[in-house]
This record gives sequence, C-alpha cells and structure tokens, in this order.
Amino acid sequence: MRSALIALGVLATSLRVASASCAPSFNLDECAWTASYVVVVAPEGGHGTVRVLESWRGALSPGDAITVPGIDSVLDWAESRQVGVQAREPNGTAPLCSESACVREARRSVLFREGGGRCFGRLLCDEHADTFVRDLIARDICFAVGAAPQNADPVASGRRDRLVLFLDREGDGFRPVGKGWLPYSSPQLEVSMVWIEAGDAFAVFDQGFGSQRLSFVLSERLLRVYVERLTALRRALDEVRSLPRALDRVAPLEHFARNGHLCVADDALQALTECGELAVPSLGRLLADRDVPWPVAHRVAEALGAIATGSAKSELVRRLEDEVVYWKTRGGFGPDERILDKGVNQWHFERARTLLLSLATHPDEKGKTALIEIGSAWRKLPESSGATTMCIPELAERALAALEKR
Ligand SMILES: [Zn+2]
Repeated sequence: MRSALIALGVLATSLRVASASCAPSFNLDECAWTASYVVVVAPEGGHGTVRVLESWRGALSPGDAITVPGIDSVLDWAESRQVGVQAREPNGTAPLCSESACVREARRSVLFREGGGRCFGRLLCDEHADTFVRDLIARDICFAVGAAPQNADPVASGRRDRLVLFLDREGDGFRPVGKGWLPYSSPQLEVSMVWIEAGDAFAVFDQGFGSQRLSFVLSERLLRVYVERLTALRRALDEVRSLPRALDRVAPLEHFARNGHLCVADDALQALTECGELAVPSLGRLLADRDVPWPVAHRVAEALGAIATGSAKSELVRRLEDEVVYWKTRGGFGPDERILDKGVNQWHFERARTLLLSLATHPDEKGKTALIEIGSAWRKLPESSGATTMCIPELAERALAALEKR
C-alpha cells in the first residue's frame, strides 16, 4: 500500500511540470488526455509495424497497419528485463472486500484523489472494484493504479499480442505521447504503452530505486471507459476554447480548471491565461479554494503572474496576505506532527511557495509588507530549522530583492 500511495503522490505532482522525482513511469492521466490516437494493436513483422485491432480515439480503423518507431525495442527491453514476469509470492491471507456485507477476497486496491488532493485507498473485490472505479471515472476523480494487495495476482508477462498505444501524429507517421519510461542506460525511447492480458491492462511503473515493474492499471473494459470519458472532456474543452469571445470562455474554463484530472485543469488554465484580465476573478477564486489541489494552485499563481496586470498582481498579494494570517495563527504543532504531514498545511505551504515565486518574477510594491511578514511568521515556527521549511523565508527574501531591483 505504501509504495502505491507514493505512486499516487507522483501522479499528483505530474502536472506537466518538470519533475525530478523518479525514473520514467506510465502516466494514465497524461497519456489518455494528450493522445490524439488511442488504439489497440498487435505488433506485426518487426520494425515497429503494428496492426490496428480496435480504435478507441482518432481516425484509425481496425486493419490499418502503422509504424511506431521504437516499439520493438521497448518490447525487447521489457522482455529482457523480465519486467513483471514474476509476481510476489502469496503472502498470508488476502483481506476481505471493504464493501459492507461482501465476503469476497479484496483483490484490488483502488487509490484515488479527491478535491484538495487528498488521497484515499480502498481494498475491494473484483466486482466492487469495477463498480467503484466506474463511478470514479464518471465523477472525474483521478485515481492511481491498483494491484492485488496481498495474494498478488500474477502480473502480465509483457505479451505482444494485444497492446494499447497512446499516439500522436508526427509527419506521415506516429509517435508515442508521454515522457517515456525507459531506464537511464537504455536508448531514449518514448512509448506510452499498455499490455493487455486476460482482460486486464498492465503498464510499466517506476518502483523506485531504479526498478520498474508491469503493474495492473485497470481492467481493459474500464480502461476503455476511462479513455472515452477523457475523449468527451477533450471535445467539450475544445468547444469552449473555440468560443470567439473571451468573456464567454471564462466561466466554463473555471469549471474545467476544477476538474479532478490535473491534465484537464492544466489545459483549462492555459486557456484562462489567454483570456487575460477577464480571467482574474476566476483565477482569484481558484487560488482561494482549498478544494483545488495544490499542483493546480501552482498553475493558477503562474497564470496570474503571466497576466501581470495590476489586478492580477493584487490577487497574488491578497492571497499572500491570507498566508500570513494562516501561518501566524497556525500556532504550535503536536509532538508527532511535522509541518507538512497534514494535507492542509501542505496545501498552504505549496500555495505560499508558488505565490512567492510568482511575486519574485512579477514584483508588486503592494506586496512588500506581506513578504516581510510571511518570512518572519515562518522563522517563528518551531519546525522551521529544517531545510525544506526554511525555503519560505528564503523565497520571501528573493521576492523582496526583486522588488528592490526594480
Ligand atoms: Zn466486494
């Protein structure tokens, strides 16, 4: 459970910002959101040629043959590394499904993230996991991989007869989306691929410490439902973006910025930034709302900084003043409570950090007092001797220096 929760944390921070966190790893949200083509294929004859079996998104048809450079190397790599060939040995008895009155074995752990970035996990039987995940998809709640928690199912062996590829056009051909996932020692290949075995979908995930494994993603059926949901969202967002008047775009874009899929929120924020001054009230609301996950709050602050009008900067200053109040009144922490362990603290920490970064790039005289106060509020916190926590006073200093330099 712990490693899976860490994976969820990675998922939460993968808002297409540079991440120095770990080796490349499959990212369902990003692949399923960005790909123009999602196809089920079977490799044919080597040299990257695959035959399309099913088309889930984009204008390819069953029977089409396409070439995806690098795909054979990735399959070879997975095989030579024996990625996922051996599941963990069964370890004791599997717990029971957590759905009330269900007495089946909990073979799936479903991890999901709700508003504010809070993460939850449930252990469920196959049947209840299916219903539960379907509901998460319908409500645009982003979730991470689940695997059999204790009596591990055998994981996929990297078979080649049924793969799901997430692709974009490149010239006359196709290229995989995503950042790729091969280890440092291998040639840089970027293939976003899912293996299908016995109705279940598997992908390579970074396990930390330089090891990767094929782990369960979803059943194939639910993967398709997931892709279809994101296809519908892509279409709806495109419609909003094509509205000629910025005034008509702002409110629906704010709605999309609250979407549980961070990739969706990210694109909506980009479109909001393009609305300029008209987007400032929406961005202000998003930045004030604790149910907005902090990776999104980061992007909101960046958007306000990019708009850089007087009212956009005032919004940044106003939220920094909120942070001063929060950290001044936060008071002491319990003996076992480190500063960032609590979700709310982390949300405020991340918001303060991103506001300071934005104000360092876009200095505003009105923010001077808040910059001084946030630094001193943090220095007074009992935990502030740690390097991580001290980054707030340092960032405040930097923003103050930027103000002086103007
Ligand atoms: Zn059950």
